[in-house]
Amino acid sequence: MVKLGFHVSIAGSFDLAVERAKALSCDTFQMFTRSPRVWAAKPISDGAAISFKRTLEASGIGPVVDHMPYLPNPAAEKPDIYEKSVATLTEELNRCHQLGIPYLVTHLGHHGKEDGHKKGQEKVIEAIGKALDNSEGNAMILLENTANEKNTVGGTFADVGVIADGLSREARVGFCFDTCHAAAAGYDIPGFGAETVFGWFADEAGSLDRLKVIHLNDMKGGIGSHLDRHEHLGLGTLGEAAIRDVLTLPALSHCAFIMETPVNEVRSDKENMEVARRLSK
Ligand SMILES: [Zn+2]
Repeated sequence: MVKLGFHVSIAGSFDLAVERAKALSCDTFQMFTRSPRVWAAKPISDGAAISFKRTLEASGIGPVVDHMPYLPNPAAEKPDIYEKSVATLTEELNRCHQLGIPYLVTHLGHHGKEDGHKKGQEKVIEAIGKALDNSEGNAMILLENTANEKNTVGGTFADVGVIADGLSREARVGFCFDTCHAAAAGYDIPGFGAETVFGWFADEAGSLDRLKVIHLNDMKGGIGSHLDRHEHLGLGTLGEAAIRDVLTLPALSHCAFIMETPVNEVRSDKENMEVARRLSK
């Protein structure tokens, strides 16, 4: 049985995130450690960190995954945005250390017109390297693939591989694979099957042993649409068969499967969990 969970809210306290995950019968969950829509983060008090770790341990849930906030862009062309992005990555690794969180998922950003793609890649490698050097603890940074929208870094498996190879710190740098993003980027999971597509990922990005988190999302757009719009499991272009194919691929059995499915009237989180459980058997 694979580990299944959701991205849950920390509204109120970190402890409440654990309670929310428990109420949804999660084995694992993802969260932000702060508001994702602003640059500044309120420091975490020692009391809040201790309480979170205690509540988490008592729940038996894990691993917890931290997701980077939305504003940082480690490939940014503008020096001030770039510096703020490096500082936020560093700070977020410190927050993972404080909260005992093993994984920090990050997108690889968008390069500027002047910089171009290669310079963008170099900037991302430098940004993550600096954050790893200047932070405490040993949380692993997980590089997430994108839908390969215009000017993104990390839109192809090979691109993710360039960043991973450039960092060459295998114990601190791993991968997060988003099924919606991959198919939107053109990797046809329903057409070729999970074994083939993840085989490409292993060849071009890096070993599946370093793949720790799957963002298990169906998609609203078509294959190769570059549209980053998530859909409830089985109700989108991927469909139940492809989702099952991913959930039951033996090479992924060690991964934490995190749903980032929509919050709307079409279906509840609880129902998505039921579908995921059924498809993972
Ligand atoms: Zn993400």
